[in-house]
Amino acid sequence: MIGLRRVSRVLLLRRLSAYRLLSTKVKEVESSTNSNHAISMRQLLYTTDETSPGSIFFLPHGTRVLNKLIQFMKNQQIKYGFQEVVTPLIFKTKLWKKSGHWDNYKEDMFKVVGNDASKDEVAHSHEEHEYGLKPMNCPGHCMIFAKFNRTYNELPVRYSDFSSLHRNEASGALSGLTRVRRFHQDDGHIFCDMTHIDQEIENTINLIKDTYAVFGISNIEYYLSTRPEEKFIGDIETWDAAESKLKQVLDSSAGKGNWEVREGDGAFYGPKIDVLLTDAFEKKHQVATIQLDFQLPKRFDLKYVSADGSIDKQPILIHRAVFGSLERFFAILLDHFQGKWPFWINPRQAIVIPVNETHIGKAEELQRKLCGDIINHEQAVSPLTGFNFHVDIDKRPATIGARTKEAIQKGYSYIILLGDKDIANGTYAVRTRDDRTITSMTSDEIYQMFIDLERAYK
Ligand SMILES: [Zn+2]
Repeated sequence: MIGLRRVSRVLLLRRLSAYRLLSTKVKEVESSTNSNHAISMRQLLYTTDETSPGSIFFLPHGTRVLNKLIQFMKNQQIKYGFQEVVTPLIFKTKLWKKSGHWDNYKEDMFKVVGNDASKDEVAHSHEEHEYGLKPMNCPGHCMIFAKFNRTYNELPVRYSDFSSLHRNEASGALSGLTRVRRFHQDDGHIFCDMTHIDQEIENTINLIKDTYAVFGISNIEYYLSTRPEEKFIGDIETWDAAESKLKQVLDSSAGKGNWEVREGDGAFYGPKIDVLLTDAFEKKHQVATIQLDFQLPKRFDLKYVSADGSIDKQPILIHRAVFGSLERFFAILLDHFQGKWPFWINPRQAIVIPVNETHIGKAEELQRKLCGDIINHEQAVSPLTGFNFHVDIDKRPATIGARTKEAIQKGYSYIILLGDKDIANGTYAVRTRDDRTITSMTSDEIYQMFIDLERAYK
């Protein structure tokens, strides 16, 4: 049950001296939300509207970034044995009663009721007609696990889900991309037994480290929250065994001394590891999380046949997310890069600027080539995979200087100029956003450079 709780102010102050994500320029703006908003205005990434408070409209360029994050994670999860599933958004309240959400989380959920009760199969029953919009994916994944007979040799079963989730946050608490009502997680649930825990946690921590390293984020904090003093479910031996495994894995994966214990701070259903980042404004965000759960498998009566033939073994559930909320991670990346996206995730990867209108044809040729085989394919349907880049063209009659300046402001990674000399040489004049040095390159060389950058996540 991955939460999105904020880290306490006390903890925040205690940690003020810790590392921070880069950016010195951001001090001039007051908050991360304002800063994000300013970048978004410039790059047209997202917007909001009072008709749906707390739900983000991702604009075309923001959606490009979001899709890259999702594609990145889908590919990593395949490597780690996850199978993606698509599960319902609305469930009858009886499901939420079974999962425990109705008792513990009802106020944070949206109710969904059809306008015409007669369309429901048991319309006279209130419970059969009332639905809750899901705040979490776990119950849906438990139901898939429970649909089939399971044996020990199938475990671990790993499901991933990028579904939208809704939580009814108070309207006054809504803020930018970090405090929202509708969001998406790179959510995953692992059904396993005690012998799998070390490996699964180690895999998850490695995935967390590798993922953040791609974004140049290396300073991450790990916290292990252990069994609460009083209210907890399951026997103490299981808790102790699980906690000692988590400690060992944290030592070997996060590194000795690189994690802290929050004694008694675990959820009542199991111990957990929280991963925190500090944004450019020294605010801490919980991003990744790994939570063991002894409770939900019991509520859903999940069973598998064990190696010794007993038919009622209960799996342990691990909830885990690496990015956490994609909206929140998007905000962290906005702070981190300040709009200077690395090439591979940049929604504006290159722009071609023909010097005058006689160069437009050649410029369009290059644009077409760099946009890749989705556009260039000769067949009626385009291929599913390939290298396809976001390349624009600026044909306006403005000066080269003015168009280049605007391209830099919009954050294009590469600016490609084209004049008589270039056409005579069969090359293009290529410069980056940050360096005015011009390099002459052929179209093949540019396309290959883009492929190399994407492959290296640069
Ligand atoms: Zn979960």
